[in-house]
Amino acid sequence: MQGTTQKIMLSESPFLLYADAQGQIFEDTTLFATGRSGWDAVPVPTEDWIELPQGGSLYTLPGRKGIGIDVLSGEMRLCEKGDAVAAFVPPAYSGFYLSAYETADNAPVLPLFCYSAVGWQQEKFYIPATRIEEDIRQDSEGYKNEKIISGTKNLLQQYPHNRLVNHLVHNCANTYQCPAARNFALGRWECPIPVSPACNANCVGCISLQPDEETIVSPQDRLAFKPTVEEIVEYTVPHLMTAPYPIVSFGQGCEGEPLLMWETMRDAIIEIRKHTPKGSININTNGSMPEAVKALCEAGLDSIRVSTNAARKEIYTPYYRPNNYEFEDIVESLKIVNQYNGWTSINYFVFPGMTDSIAEYEALRKLIKETGLKMIQWRSFNIDPDWYLGKIGVTDTGECMGVKKLQQLIKEEFPQIKYGYFNPPIERIRGSFEKDFAHHGQSA
Ligand code: SF4
Repeated sequence: MQGTTQKIMLSESPFLLYADAQGQIFEDTTLFATGRSGWDAVPVPTEDWIELPQGGSLYTLPGRKGIGIDVLSGEMRLCEKGDAVAAFVPPAYSGFYLSAYETADNAPVLPLFCYSAVGWQQEKFYIPATRIEEDIRQDSEGYKNEKIISGTKNLLQQYPHNRLVNHLVHNCANTYQCPAARNFALGRWECPIPVSPACNANCVGCISLQPDEETIVSPQDRLAFKPTVEEIVEYTVPHLMTAPYPIVSFGQGCEGEPLLMWETMRDAIIEIRKHTPKGSININTNGSMPEAVKALCEAGLDSIRVSTNAARKEIYTPYYRPNNYEFEDIVESLKIVNQYNGWTSINYFVFPGMTDSIAEYEALRKLIKETGLKMIQWRSFNIDPDWYLGKIGVTDTGECMGVKKLQQLIKEEFPQIKYGYFNPPIERIRGSFEKDFAHHGQSA
């Protein structure tokens, strides 16, 4: 049982969607749906559309009018019937185009979600995307609420005084519906270890802290305490020893930058490995402190995932707005883990029109060669497209090739590089990345 979506080849583009004032969504059969790349509305090749996978959802976009292609004239024009609509691309899928619309001057900034192109055809919703990750760990079908509730109750009974477990249960699993915290409650796969209340970057789209002057809010609150080594070790060792394909990961959406707590992580890794050699110890990070990363590798870190919106410094810096570190530091962190033969991934925020620009393609090739990068996790970028491009000062995105083409070219030139969406377990890192992945049959 692998997480796949039946690919039905459409003979023609799906119809554009619009929403009325009550938020009800309709198709406009006078317009074919288009996609957005950078600042431009573009036709979407019919072969790129797939059915909206389970776990996907729809958004109505206030103050925005959808752009479609007139089914008779072939001309692009606005849909005046209602507000534009976009789709949320669920985890494990990589989206190729954003929703295309015209924004009114007084339109509100959209919250921190991804806004994919979407259309309607043959009684179904379609998005331009592909499944980029086989692993089903965050497939919505795999989460049974009653099992999560009993799992969280067990954790609170097992670790009544552990502040971190209480945070993961009450805030992450039960409030934010965090897939990683829910998998922890189900005793399987990747388990989160948030450690840092502070950060040394100021990302425009930070999901744990948004400045008061911004109109949007962060979907999570930032961790408010510094966990101890004992609190970390107490629940991660049993998880590594009992969970299938176990991973424990520092660096979560509900915290700042974990490297600011490197001494605690170093001591926790050493302590964990005294109890068990099982599983993978991973860090999700902005990669800002190479020396701290070196210390973690010395302690036994197995893999790193460095988040970035670009492989170009001039696009990275206005988004991350780093304190006391440079883009070169994140490159150095990847090199160091590679030198220790650790697994290296980038958590690559995909923005059609930016990620697939020729300039970015060349920079990504350079980054892969320089760092020996092992994996690209093609992450949907959860941000208002106009707001993002405005904040980083991009008025012209330059020549683009399409996200699908970019993925093909990189794979052709670097066949050893892996594509996915999640941090791989040690069985995939040390085994055959494709074949050793038999746990698809296991569901909650
Ligand atoms: S690195 Fe993470 S925690 Fe820090 S500002 Fe960026 S998104 Fe927020």
